[in-house]
Amino acid sequence: MSEIKTQLLVIGAGPGGYAAAFYAADSGMEVTLVDTELHPGGVCLYRGCIPSKALLHAAKVVSESRDAKKFGIVFNEPAIDVDKLRSWKNDIVSKMTGNLGLLAKSRKVTFIQGKATFVDSNTVKVKRPDSSSQNVRFEYAILATGSRPILLPNVPDSPLILNSTTGLELQTIPSSLLVVGGGYIGLELGTVYAELGSEVSVVEMTPGLLPGADRDLVNVLEKRLKTIFKSIMLGTKVAKVETTAKNVKVTFENPDGKTSQQTYDKILIAIGRKPNSSDLGLENAKVKVTPKGFVQVDLQRRTTDSAIFAIGDVAGEPMLAHKASHEGRVAVDAIAGKKTAFEPKAIPAVVFIDPEIAWCGLTETQARQENRAITVAKFPWGASGRAMTLNRTDGLTKLILDTDTQRVLGMAIVGPGAGELIAEGVLAVEMGAVAEDVKLAIHPHPTTSETIMEAAESFFGHATHIYRPRKEAKK
Ligand code: FAD
Ligand code: NAD
Repeated sequence: MSEIKTQLLVIGAGPGGYAAAFYAADSGMEVTLVDTELHPGGVCLYRGCIPSKALLHAAKVVSESRDAKKFGIVFNEPAIDVDKLRSWKNDIVSKMTGNLGLLAKSRKVTFIQGKATFVDSNTVKVKRPDSSSQNVRFEYAILATGSRPILLPNVPDSPLILNSTTGLELQTIPSSLLVVGGGYIGLELGTVYAELGSEVSVVEMTPGLLPGADRDLVNVLEKRLKTIFKSIMLGTKVAKVETTAKNVKVTFENPDGKTSQQTYDKILIAIGRKPNSSDLGLENAKVKVTPKGFVQVDLQRRTTDSAIFAIGDVAGEPMLAHKASHEGRVAVDAIAGKKTAFEPKAIPAVVFIDPEIAWCGLTETQARQENRAITVAKFPWGASGRAMTLNRTDGLTKLILDTDTQRVLGMAIVGPGAGELIAEGVLAVEMGAVAEDVKLAIHPHPTTSETIMEAAESFFGHATHIYRPRKEAKK
């Protein structure tokens, strides 16, 4: 078997792995990147962030054309060419992954297509698609093998049962679709199918959608989702799934323990993801995993084997692309001997439905659970001129402030474009900004970004466009 030697081996070329490999090469290291796919990109580009956002854009065009009736512009019902939509989405994926392949080449990163398994603490065996194998000996390795969907137990294997990967393939638009899981994927893909014409129902086991987000924000999006989804069943379990050649029969267990049945053309299961840490031969190195299967890492993302680091979904929550990329750069800096640590104060979370919901730093719910002395400064989009011109006054912006120091601990926004706006919150939290900084920074008019400035003004009792005097004037 052939063998190559490399200074840094990166296993998995998702947004964690390729960002780490490119940064390491830019920092002067000699790098080999291995992935089972033809090009770098990982779940995010091939079957995650990018294809889902392309389809969500198409969905938004449909919903905006419908909303335009309100101001006197009436479009015909959209004619949806599913084949063209699918190929537009696939083209984006091919272009982006192909470009990443070229970027790897330009940086002289050796890219090997194949599946890596550890032989020992300094060697992996890579099995290529043609079944040939090659050993790669490394000084350091970064494990970035990502995650895969969790399966619902006792669900038959059937083309009528989709997961996020098959859901994004957009084979057909089923006339009725049940989405199991009211989290990120369930709501994003549920929105896509609903706007493309499916009658979508969502079933969520917990009492509310998006369990990690503050309820006042979720209430805003739930109101709109109720207008596009046929039903949202909360606190409800899927007790049984049976398939026939044509449809899927689902038995639900309601919050009061009663059962009911419904039949759907297809169901899409999106109940979370689990780390890809098995089948890697980790037992041949000294890498340990947690009971949930995440690779155990320290602040520098070093595993229990000092030559091996782990980043991204395989190294723990939150399972987000930007968190993976950031960890990748931390691991590379640690390998280069720089003083570094993964200690973000604000990892932004964005759910790209309509309205978008985004938050970063401390949430109000967390703060209340921890009995922190916080003040929540809110600005409703009903008072925003820009929101009115967008015909979308249903949004809300809020700042979570330390009551004593006025420091911005978190920000949360629901409304169109919230995902773009939240970056200001990340900067505010990371830079230790106080409410006055946000208040005094001139924001462009008319934009929804002004809602952030006015939320800060409301803390002082003088937001221009709302009258909400404080009991005690702040200096
Ligand atoms: P991954 O992107 O999972 O990449 C891991 C790579 O490792 C894969 O290419 C895999 O083939 C390869 N691999 C695995 N095992 C081996 C092995 N033994 N040898 C070689 N290669 C191997 N996050 C966001 O931040 N924003 C979003 O909008 C967003 N949307 C999403 C939508 C969907 C439908 C899904 C499923 C996920 C979404 N995510 C989003 C999450 C995001 O995709 C992940 O957090 C991110 O991809 C994690 O990056 P990673 O580098 O850890 O691993
Ligand atoms: P999730 O954790 O976001 O949501 C899963 C939901 O399913 C939860 O609300 C959970 O309570 C519910 N659930 C679990 N078991 C259930 C059951 N048996 N019946 C009904 N409901 C059940 O997981 P996901 O939507 O699969 O997404 C996985 C991860 O991928 C996300 O957590 C996120 O990290 C990432 N992601 C991010 C984005 C984004 O950034 N926009 C988009 C998609 C995915």
